[in-house]
Amino acid sequence: MALINEHYLKLTKNYLFADIAKKVNAFKVSHQKANVISLGIGDVTRPLCPAVIKAMHKAVDEMSTREGFHGYGPEQGYMFLREAIVKNDYLSRGIHIDPSEVFVNDGAKSDTGNIGELVRWDNNFGVTDPVYPVYVDSNVMCGRAGALVDGKWSNVTYIPCTEENNFVPQIPDQRVDIIYLCYPNNPTGTVITKEELRKWVNYALKNDTLIFYDAAYEAYIQDDDIPHSIYEIKGARKVAIEFRSFSKTAGFTGVRCGYTVVPKELTAASIDGKERYPLNPMWYRRQCTKFNGTSYISQRAAEAIYTPEGKEQVRETIKYYMDNAKIMRETLTSLGLKVYGGVNAPYLWVKTPGNIDSWKFFEQMLYGAQVVCTPGVGFGPSGEGFVRLTAFGEREDCKEAMRRISLWMQK
Ligand SMILES: *Cc1c(COP(=O)(O)O)cnc(C)c1O
Repeated sequence: MALINEHYLKLTKNYLFADIAKKVNAFKVSHQKANVISLGIGDVTRPLCPAVIKAMHKAVDEMSTREGFHGYGPEQGYMFLREAIVKNDYLSRGIHIDPSEVFVNDGAKSDTGNIGELVRWDNNFGVTDPVYPVYVDSNVMCGRAGALVDGKWSNVTYIPCTEENNFVPQIPDQRVDIIYLCYPNNPTGTVITKEELRKWVNYALKNDTLIFYDAAYEAYIQDDDIPHSIYEIKGARKVAIEFRSFSKTAGFTGVRCGYTVVPKELTAASIDGKERYPLNPMWYRRQCTKFNGTSYISQRAAEAIYTPEGKEQVRETIKYYMDNAKIMRETLTSLGLKVYGGVNAPYLWVKTPGNIDSWKFFEQMLYGAQVVCTPGVGFGPSGEGFVRLTAFGEREDCKEAMRRISLWMQK
């Protein structure tokens, strides 16, 4: 008899975006002529830039020849890409990462979800609240999150990021074995300063805590003094794994490519606490067993982002989204709404007026303005009373959505 992994049964049944789709469809059925604009789900809309397209075409042509054909590649990724990453994403900021510390993957979701395999199921962990759901759900699946009690997991330390603390995650009183941090943040669109990030690295060094740092949105940082990588902080190589993705940086949500950095100095303890083991060879071993690499075509596409043309074109696309964010911020603020984020990140975290709950405001906006947002409570208990809007739309849609929200709110 095959016995199931009963932890899967604990997962909350409904996936946030499926719930939203259901409500939007219900609206469309009763309002067939309505043209609904979605500023909800976090997918990009701009096409891949010319430098990437050129590199992909070239890679496809190579694959059509006997000499240029590529079968299985190195599990850790091709050296051409790992060297480009090390040079452009790290060395340019004074950070020394060795290519052997870089693991190319098919996007950051896989690795942020899988990385937990390296540590025992009975570690406890902390997340900022609200949070990207993958961190919590992937831990529920292996039993690490404990049981769901009143909307919270018993073995999870929630670190509220709210208006009251200006969305700065406070160091918890008790120690945690693992902490997930995501900056620039999804869903709040807020960032962390070097000073605040240093507190977390020092906490991790002192308490022997492992930090999983998700920097999927680092390309959106506009202010010079905001850290792009946790390795800008001294000591971080001993305590942190960093996740990056080309998805939001260069529109690779459909191409699939990202990478994870596991420094050589990073270790974790044996169960008796007597030995320390480096995680880099463990992750290498894991990848060699369960992952057969990212496609050659995707890796050549990613490499093209680091060429001078590629860099310029990626910057233009990011500017396009950040100009959307500016338009949205200005409109919503002028309507008297409290808006956070949208300055160093493509997300706006908007406080619902009059403290109405997230789902209610979601429905009001859908029925009143035919604009879809994401209810903040879907990202965790501290997300209640907020909605998330994304700046990833087409400019015209974005402007039209703002026009409709203005008309609706001024009624
Ligand atoms: C979009 C996103 C990712 C990237 O996912 P991919 O699998 O690389 O497409 C990672 N982390 C967060 C917080 C995200 O929002």
